[in-house]
Amino acid sequence: MNNLAEIYDITIVGSGPTGLYGAFYAGMRGMKTKILDALPELGGQLVTLYPEKWVFDVGGFPKILAKDLAKNLVEQAMTFEPEVCLDEKVLSVKTHSENGTRIIELVTDKGISHLTKTIVLTAGIGAFKPKKLDKPRIEQFEGKGIHYFVNEKRVFKDKDILIVGGGDSAVDWCLNLLDTAKKITLIHRSDQFRAHEESVRALISSPIEIMTFHELKSVNGNEKLETAVVYDNRTHEEKALRVDGIILNLGFHADLGPIKEWGLELDKGGIKVNYRMETNVEGIFAAGDVASHPGKLKLISTGFGEVVVAVNFAKNFMDPSAKVYPGHSTDLKNIPAAKKGN
Ligand SMILES: Cc1cc2nc3c(=O)[nH]c(=O)nc-3n(C[C@H](O)[C@H](O)[C@H](O)COP(=O)(O)OP(=O)(O)OC[C@H]3O[C@@H](n4cnc5c(N)ncnc54)[C@H](O)[C@@H]3O)c2cc1C
Repeated sequence: MNNLAEIYDITIVGSGPTGLYGAFYAGMRGMKTKILDALPELGGQLVTLYPEKWVFDVGGFPKILAKDLAKNLVEQAMTFEPEVCLDEKVLSVKTHSENGTRIIELVTDKGISHLTKTIVLTAGIGAFKPKKLDKPRIEQFEGKGIHYFVNEKRVFKDKDILIVGGGDSAVDWCLNLLDTAKKITLIHRSDQFRAHEESVRALISSPIEIMTFHELKSVNGNEKLETAVVYDNRTHEEKALRVDGIILNLGFHADLGPIKEWGLELDKGGIKVNYRMETNVEGIFAAGDVASHPGKLKLISTGFGEVVVAVNFAKNFMDPSAKVYPGHSTDLKNIPAAKKGN
C-alpha cells in the first residue's frame, strides 16, 4: 500500500449527477471527500451523451439544458472543496487494516493508489460505447457526417438530418434539433417507440418526417456524406434520402468493466444494494444508475435521493457515533464553508 497517499473519509467513483450531488452532500456531512472519474470532465452522461438536450424532470428546474444542470451540480459539488481526480479509471479495490482501522485502496489505470474509509460507487452504466451498425460505408463516414453523440447543435444548422432509432435519445434529438436543422427525418424499425410518452406525443405533432418500419441500408457520398438508402422492412422497398448528417441512436453497450471483478454482488447488470444503498462489501455503497434494487428507475432524480441515503449511511459506517439522519441543511454546524456564510 502506498503509505504516502492521504486517507479520505469517502471516495466517490463517478462524477455524473449522482456522484456530484453525493460529493456536495458528503462535504455537508463534514467528510473529507474525493471524486474520481475515468472521463476528462465532470458531469457523466449529462455532458457526454446529451449536453444540449433539455431536461424537464428534475425538481426545482421546470426546464434546464443538461450541460447547465451539470454546471450547477459542479458548482454545488465544489462547495466543500473535494479533491477531484479526472481521467483516471478505477481498476481495482482492495481492503487493508491499518492500526485497527479498515482502509480501502483503489488503484487506477494511472497506477495511482487512492486510500479511503468508504466508497460510494456512482459509476452509472460504466464506460459507455455507442452501438454501431454493420452496414456498407458507415465506418468511413464516422466523424464526416455520421454521429453517435451530439456535442454541438450548430453542426446541424440548416442541414438535412436523418435520425435512426426509437428510444429516448432518438426522439429527444429529433425534438431538440427542430430549431436548428433544415429538415429532420426519423426512421425506426417498428412502430413502437420506447421513448417517454410525452416526447412521442410531441414528435407525432411535430413537422419531423417519421418513417416507421424503416431501417438504414447503406450510405453514400464522396468527400462527405450525401445520401442514405433506407428500406421498408416489411416490403423491402428502398428509398434514397439526401442527407448532410445521420445521427445513429441505437443505444449503448454499457460495461462495468473492472468493477465486475471487485467481489460485488451483481443484479440485472448493476450492483445489488440494500435499503441503505450498501453493497455486499463492507464500506462500499452504490447509488444512481449503477445501483440495482427492486423497482429501480434510472433517472437523475432517483440518483439524487439514493446518493443522499448512501452518504448518510457511509458517514455512520465510518463514525458510528454520527447520526444517519442529519436533519435539514440549515443546520450546518462545524462545517467551515457554511460558517463563512457561503
Ligand atoms: C439520451 C439520454 C437522455 C436522458 N434524459 C434524461 C432526462 O431527461 N431525465 C432524467 O432524469 N434522466 C435522463 N437520462 C438518464 C440519466 O442521464 C441517468 O439516469 C444519469 O446520468 C445517471 O447518473 P449517474 O451519476 O448515476 O451516472 P452517469 O451519468 O452515467 O455517470 C457515471 C460516471 O462514472 C464514471 N465511471 C464509470 N466507471 C468508472 C471507473 N471504473 N472509474 C472511474 N469512473 C468511472 C463515468 O465516466 C461517468 O462519468 C437520460 C439518459 C440518456 C442516455
